[in-house]
Amino acid sequence: MISCKPLPYLLFLALVPASLPAQNPALPAPAVFGYRSFTAEAAIEEKFLSIPDAGLAGQHLKTLTAEPHLAATPGDHKTADYVAQKFRAAGLETEIVPYRVLLNQPTEVRVEAFAPNGKQLMSGPTREHVAGDPYQDDPRVALPFNGSSGSGDITAEVVYANYGRQEDFDYLAEQHIDLHGKIVLIRYGANFRGIKVYLAEQRGAAGVLLYSDPQDDGYAKGKTYPEGPWRPETGIQYGSVQYQFKYPGDPETPGVASTLELPDSARVSPYGSQPHIISIPISYHDAAPILQALKGLTVPKEWQGGLPFHYHLGEVGRKDGVTVHLLSRQDYQRRIIWDVIGKVKGTQYPDDWVIAGNHRDAWIYGAVDPSSGTAAMLEAVHGVGALLRQGWRPKRTLIFASWDAEEEGLIGSTEWVEQNAQALKRAVAYFNTDVAVSGPDFSADAVPSLKQFVRELTRSVPSPLGGSVYQQWRANHPAQSGLRGNHVTPEAGEDVHVGNLGSGSDFAAFLDHAGVPSTDIGSNGSYGVYHSVFDNYAWYTMNADPHFDYLQQMARVLGLEALRMADADVLPYDYAAYAREITSALEADQRRVGPAGRGSFDFGPALAAAARLATAAERVRGQQTDATGDLVRLNLALRQTESALLSETGLPNRPWYRHTIYAPDELSGYAAQVLPGVNEALDSKNLAIAAQQLTALTTALTRAAQTLEGAR
Ligand SMILES: [Zn+2]
Repeated sequence: MISCKPLPYLLFLALVPASLPAQNPALPAPAVFGYRSFTAEAAIEEKFLSIPDAGLAGQHLKTLTAEPHLAATPGDHKTADYVAQKFRAAGLETEIVPYRVLLNQPTEVRVEAFAPNGKQLMSGPTREHVAGDPYQDDPRVALPFNGSSGSGDITAEVVYANYGRQEDFDYLAEQHIDLHGKIVLIRYGANFRGIKVYLAEQRGAAGVLLYSDPQDDGYAKGKTYPEGPWRPETGIQYGSVQYQFKYPGDPETPGVASTLELPDSARVSPYGSQPHIISIPISYHDAAPILQALKGLTVPKEWQGGLPFHYHLGEVGRKDGVTVHLLSRQDYQRRIIWDVIGKVKGTQYPDDWVIAGNHRDAWIYGAVDPSSGTAAMLEAVHGVGALLRQGWRPKRTLIFASWDAEEEGLIGSTEWVEQNAQALKRAVAYFNTDVAVSGPDFSADAVPSLKQFVRELTRSVPSPLGGSVYQQWRANHPAQSGLRGNHVTPEAGEDVHVGNLGSGSDFAAFLDHAGVPSTDIGSNGSYGVYHSVFDNYAWYTMNADPHFDYLQQMARVLGLEALRMADADVLPYDYAAYAREITSALEADQRRVGPAGRGSFDFGPALAAAARLATAAERVRGQQTDATGDLVRLNLALRQTESALLSETGLPNRPWYRHTIYAPDELSGYAAQVLPGVNEALDSKNLAIAAQQLTALTTALTRAAQTLEGAR
């Protein structure tokens, strides 16, 4: 459970920076990186911060979650109209941008299990149900399904495979359990569900059953809904099993936008990023009778979940096996989806876009995921509208985006990025939010150049717990070593940790494909109803944020990211921090390779290129602070330094991913892989490719250093 103690008010007075109580104009504005003088901007930010309203945000949330709004359905279209109307009311130049993309919707889903003697053990999937939930019985709630699942009708023996990680499948192989033609029962957690299906398919499985074990987000964590926030017995996690680590977006158009005009002849087979096999998500109510009937070897201790009996791997190829029948009828069609794009043209740098975005589609109601993000974004837009009415205009073009079909595979954002690839070479930032509010615990991920930017601006936003968001964040999150300790070393003096961007939301196309510096923010808490019918307005007001104070907070943080970036004299990228992180990642790889590998790898040139980038960053920092000289040239060079880190050919097995420093991890899918070309080759013990990728990385780092040296 998360504990949040309000800081004493006096401490708040002592620590909060001058930009918050700018009510007193006699106080000088603080120095803010990227601004020659922050006085005028402080006044603009103060006006902005006074507008986002908790009550109005709550109303947006209620409207957005009034009915199921799966991508490409009438409910989804209604939410697009609502968002467009709010954008227009604020004075944004607004359009609804459609794409035609391949999506499946379930028409029939069945799961039955049989004991060796033919006795039926269960028949489902059982619809999600708890006592008293007002939203669960809507006839528009889709059948439980996985986006990108195959269609078919199969009957086979079942094997339990824990979380479905590479090491879990390796363990089954060591036990001589052959998965060819079998159905694999896998619990959610530890990695992206698409990876579970991908690995099962590689091992020859005919189908996958995904279930939510009570140990991971159910009663083992605490009280279940409606008594508490955790997943109840019938709760099901819907979700996409697309192979997003190959490429996200419309599976038929990698690298190309699926506009309405795009001819069918320009589309390719979807199986580059889609499984052939069936997968179906179920609750532990439905999984328990299957698990309980499995015989064979007892599972290793770590494989045991929270159900009150011993788990077994399953007896296959003998007479004691449990048999499961899976029926999945998926209606695959090219369907229309709708992004909503609202713009305010910049006065000084109209071609330099600052984009803030969040997806709008949900598996069902999506109160937390993503409607809390949409409600927060609409109140940020409300604040921008108030500034516009007072005559303010941003220096750079401001764009707010409401993406569609994120859940199926980051589709709306990916298609838009592919369509606007040329213009996005000048986009200076993409600020994402998705699961904006599930509780009080603020967190952020960012490219290294924007980590300090995020820390700094959260000092200007008040927390509902008292003090600033920054103070609460710092109180809850002392500096830590990151998710992947070997890749993320906390910098000396890092007071609050900002993570690296992996994948799992709409920043992926911006950063990994287009090289736009990005951040992702959220406010988190106990959240056991992810991707279930119970992620609805009733759950939200009971568990996450009853007075919508955190929606207001997130509206202010998201809006401030956009405003502060849009109006900066000089882009506030911290490339010294970037160079430090790259250097420590290279040093970690050097240790990983060890003395034995030094013959095949020379890290010297890559480390020298990173050092050259660090030197260029230190030199340019003075200019960024003074904001004098040729600012047009300076800003352009600063922006192009991030682009210089893209590789033209992309990563070896997945050319859509072009960033040489970050990609989603191929084996976890959510976490960030740092220096992906080198590390993935080392993971697969392909030393020739690793050496070649080290050279490609050196080229990119040298290009980035040269670009930054040109900033004068
Ligand atoms: Zn989401």
